[in-house]
Amino acid sequence: MLTARSKDLFTQAQEFIPGGVNSPVRAFKSVGADPLFIKKAIGCTITDADNNDYIDYVGSWGPMILGHCHPQVVEAVKRAVESGSSFGAPTELEITLARMVIDAVPSIEMVRMVSSGTEATMSAIRLARGYTGRDKIIKFSGCYHGHADALLVKAGSGAATFGVPDSPGVPVDVAKNTLTAQFNDLGSVSKLIDENKNEVACIIVEPIAGNMGTVPPGEGFLEGLRSICDSEGIVLIFDEVMTGFRVAYGGAQELYGVTPDMTTLGKIIGGGLPVGAFGGKKDIMKLLSPSGGVYQAGTLSGNPLAMTAGIETLKLLQADGFYERLEQTSRRLADGITEAAKSAGYPIYQTRVGSMFCTFFTSNEVRDWPTAATCDTKAFAAFFRMMLEKGIYLAPSQFETAFVSIAHTEAEIEKTIAAARSCFAAL
Ligand code: PLP
Repeated sequence: MLTARSKDLFTQAQEFIPGGVNSPVRAFKSVGADPLFIKKAIGCTITDADNNDYIDYVGSWGPMILGHCHPQVVEAVKRAVESGSSFGAPTELEITLARMVIDAVPSIEMVRMVSSGTEATMSAIRLARGYTGRDKIIKFSGCYHGHADALLVKAGSGAATFGVPDSPGVPVDVAKNTLTAQFNDLGSVSKLIDENKNEVACIIVEPIAGNMGTVPPGEGFLEGLRSICDSEGIVLIFDEVMTGFRVAYGGAQELYGVTPDMTTLGKIIGGGLPVGAFGGKKDIMKLLSPSGGVYQAGTLSGNPLAMTAGIETLKLLQADGFYERLEQTSRRLADGITEAAKSAGYPIYQTRVGSMFCTFFTSNEVRDWPTAATCDTKAFAAFFRMMLEKGIYLAPSQFETAFVSIAHTEAEIEKTIAAARSCFAAL
């Protein structure tokens, strides 16, 4: 595989952009490779600057559930741009997408659009603090909620990959209000609450952790969080930036039947354009400026192109049998990879919820960050590089989720399984 053009672009990029990339995991550092520069993607195929094609399981880190360049989305965005790309004034499109989100997500009665998942979680936390008049928050080790200061504490994703859970530049005074519990361990939550009686504003959780690999909630975990929050007057926030419209049309809260007080969204609701959103109960959301005093704003919030891409994407997700088809394809792939590892005698622990999955390079059950951290990241890196050579584009870190799209067909799934079989055998 020739990657001379990507290598040359990476050399140039490093001169002008820190580390050569605009988001750290893209640099492929933890897998000991140079990043591929991408020039286009259509369906489930992504093409690099040297014209190599790969089957894509990154899907822009989650948004591309329809695959890339779905014609209906492309057409709608083209039409929208001809009417102007940003007005800084309200549009009907914002009401349309807000309605669609409210109809879909059980906990959301009102919603505000922002431009990224980070903004969504940061703003949701400010609102929860304003609502409760309390300062402390609880998050879970290995869960990533974007890069706001308060949330860069024991974060997963890139922070886990690089082993710098607490970033330099985050003031101690800010981090001290972030308490960290263990995912899937209600005891660790209760303990923190007992030690900080009447001081905790909110618990923020990825209902299916997707930023330490994919870690589903154990039985009773989300229900337990709900009941703790009810009895302690704490706002429960589900960060569904990744899981929203991904594991079910109504997100993880629909799948597991547990309704938080607030929800954050992003990725899919922007159809590949920069979008985030946060929403929840009316009595909380009404405290937001200008109807209330909790300030939040954005020049490009509710951007008409992003709203259009989101609306068209959500319409397509409503097609009969969409999630059933995605489930079938994803199951076949995850089962195939598990079986490929088994037949090669290679120990892995496979997790999957719908079209989110992770192949952990460990024989331990993974249920939280300490168990995820038992993975053999060197073996994963070798596997990643071999898969890439065979035309399979996986997320360049052990601690990320792989995404299947509706554009993946049987042929691509079988090709991926065959590639995995030979890579496991070669490890
Ligand atoms: N929350 C979760 C669960 C995420 O997975 C991410 C990003 O991957 C974010 C928040 C941050 O979103 P963004 O990268 O759009 O700021």
